[in-house]
Amino acid sequence: MNDTTPAARVLQGLQNDRADLEDFYRHLHQHPELSHQETATAESVRSRLEDAGYDVSFGIGGTGVVGVLRNGDGPRVLLRADMDALPVQEATGLAYASTVTTTDPSGDTVPVMHACGHDVHVTALLGAAGLMASSRDQWKGTLVALFQPAEEVGDGARGMVDDGAFADAVGAVDVALAQHVMPVPAGRIGTRPGAILSAADSMRVTVHGRGAHGSMPQAAIDPVVLAAMIVVRLQTVVSREVAPTEPAVLTIGSLRAGSKSNVIGDHAVLELNVRTYNEQTRTSVLDAVRRIVTAECQASDSPKPPEFELFDRFPATTNDTATTEKVAAAFADHFGERHFDAPLESASEDFSDLPEALGVPYSYWIFGGADPSAYQAAEDAGRVAQDIPVNHSPFFAPVLQPTLDTGVEALVVAALAYLGTGG
Ligand SMILES: [Zn+2]
Ligand SMILES: [Zn+2]
Repeated sequence: MNDTTPAARVLQGLQNDRADLEDFYRHLHQHPELSHQETATAESVRSRLEDAGYDVSFGIGGTGVVGVLRNGDGPRVLLRADMDALPVQEATGLAYASTVTTTDPSGDTVPVMHACGHDVHVTALLGAAGLMASSRDQWKGTLVALFQPAEEVGDGARGMVDDGAFADAVGAVDVALAQHVMPVPAGRIGTRPGAILSAADSMRVTVHGRGAHGSMPQAAIDPVVLAAMIVVRLQTVVSREVAPTEPAVLTIGSLRAGSKSNVIGDHAVLELNVRTYNEQTRTSVLDAVRRIVTAECQASDSPKPPEFELFDRFPATTNDTATTEKVAAAFADHFGERHFDAPLESASEDFSDLPEALGVPYSYWIFGGADPSAYQAAEDAGRVAQDIPVNHSPFFAPVLQPTLDTGVEALVVAALAYLGTGG
């Protein structure tokens, strides 16, 4: 690292902050909170931002926190982290593993774990926010540090945007940036212009038949046969209606019908999940599902129309090209060989709801959290590293360093690509 850039000078402070950030991370990991329950996390975020001199708005969209640091005229950059954990029983064996349980929205007691690494995101953004606050002579403009609830259930960003206090809390911004820790070697950082994460839509489809004795099919409209036809026919949506160059996934994850071998039931319920990378494909695939289901119900002489219910919906994440090129150039400069071109990811995120609502371009990147030696071992054995615990696994355990440093550095470097004042 040279000390000729604002990023290098700002990041000199990381030496002093590192131990404190690591402690904070371990505490957060040990005290995870489910989506919409991030009250203690939000409270510690608030107090740290206030201590660093940020103007803080609290309780936006439930538990969302927005810190604003104004530092003269210049660009206005929003950095975002998500705060929620998952109902997963941690099995990492880490000294700071979570043993937390909580009551979920349905009233069940569930274990809670930061199995997606949002504790890394929160700590990294607090680290970056602190460094930027303590080196205001190195940059000009406005930095907005936004901590959102409930990414895992897809409505946390939307909840903040829909809060009447959101616009005032955030103010005007020019660009929005966010990151996610992923199962790639720690220390590496990947960017990608254009599509990076898919949109996700789940749909519950209920189709109706007419119940009867299993020995008298002529008196029935069999929902099992109807549902089976739908399952088969839906396989043609992606294979026959979507261009081969356009990635899309349609999975029917659940099909329930009937209760007994000699009883023909009166309805069937299918739950399916669709992943797409642009709005046109998304609309066409969902329309095709409705069209095929409706037509199959007609073909079976179903006594009433099918019902469709969309749930767990995530927007696509499509990086602005100019923004991503600017960020990627700054990363290449700072990280050198550790910067790579990220592949298209099939995961989904709700981050883009924020810049979409603000009407600003955005870029989202991924960075590594996995022990690099695990990849080296796989490479030495001539195999693909498929046994690295991925996000949402009970074994997901980012190595503390260089993961945390990389997350902090990435946010500072990307923000300063806009806010930095000369070399
Ligand atoms: Zn997740
Ligand atoms: Zn996540």
